Amino acid sequence: MKVLFVAGDPKPERWTVPIKQLLPEADIYVWDPDGPAINADYAIVWQPPAKLFERETRLKAVFNLGAGIDGLLKVPNLPADLTVVRLEDAGMSVQMAEHVLHQILEVSRQMELYRDQQRQRLWKIHRPISRKEWPIGIMGLGHIGKRVASTLASLDYTVNGWARSEHTVEGVRTFAGNGQLGEFLGATRVLVNTLPLTSETENILNYDLFSQLQPGAVLINVGRGEHLVEEDLLRALDEEKLQRASLDVFRKEPLPAGHPFWERTDITITPHISARTLRDATLEQITGKIRDHASGHPITGIVDIARGY
Ligand code: NAP
Repeated sequence: MKVLFVAGDPKPERWTVPIKQLLPEADIYVWDPDGPAINADYAIVWQPPAKLFERETRLKAVFNLGAGIDGLLKVPNLPADLTVVRLEDAGMSVQMAEHVLHQILEVSRQMELYRDQQRQRLWKIHRPISRKEWPIGIMGLGHIGKRVASTLASLDYTVNGWARSEHTVEGVRTFAGNGQLGEFLGATRVLVNTLPLTSETENILNYDLFSQLQPGAVLINVGRGEHLVEEDLLRALDEEKLQRASLDVFRKEPLPAGHPFWERTDITITPHISARTLRDATLEQITGKIRDHASGHPITGIVDIARGY
């Protein structure tokens, strides 16, 4: 079995050595842009070049080194019938739950106010804000959204969840489809986006959507930058339809130095770190699936290319 590693890491051995340890029966190759075809059976990729699919025509499946496959689906000559497999959790959902909780506590526990007071050597206690004042809405109830929703529900927050299809998550009120989006938004003050980027979800975080949230709303975007209409966010903040936004993902990454978001005190910026790819957990999952696929066993995490996730 031949496995080709295609990701722009300047030290590919960080990946190929553990892949070989986990999959000793395979021959492991690193993508060489100028090399010949190796007739790989499987490729492990992150944002691969279009040339990969021109040259490697015998691929049985491609394994994406991330949960979001929007980058891979943009590769122009990706064969429509190729089996594409995305990462399923692999240690990301717990990181995302921590990150989202942290962002919520910043506002719900008035941490900025107390940091300001510390600078002034001021001991002053403010009225505590009850959890009930912070109903949370999670967009997307997949591997990531579900973990975020159930973590927050376990801390007694009021949690709503919205997805394309119906879901049951303990302690979470769930909504499905565009027909229930308005009701979901009306029940939500802290909106957390964990959707995948597809033609249906692009630009979903817009002025009209922000206008349907409860007063004093907060946006936490950990999905993709293209979900957010940036001018609409600035307008909603200026008009106090939103009180704050916490953004981990951006249309252009790194966020350009001249971007207006940097200057805003009502926007928290993190550089796409809310859930990092954990190499060990990722490679254990992918090599396990390669072995199962090669021996004819069913595997999970296959992307529906037409649906976009
Ligand atoms: P997933 O398991 O595929 O879940 C996607 C969820 O979104 C599903 O619940 C799905 O609904 C819902 N959804 C998709 N299209 C929808 C639509 N048009 N309307 C309503 N709901 C829709 O994906 P995941 O593993 O949770 O990952 C989600 C995304 O998180 C990734 O695609 C990636 O963009 C992002 N992410 C970001 C980071 C970061 O560091 N910032 C890290 C990892 C992932 P159904 O359940 O009904 O199908």
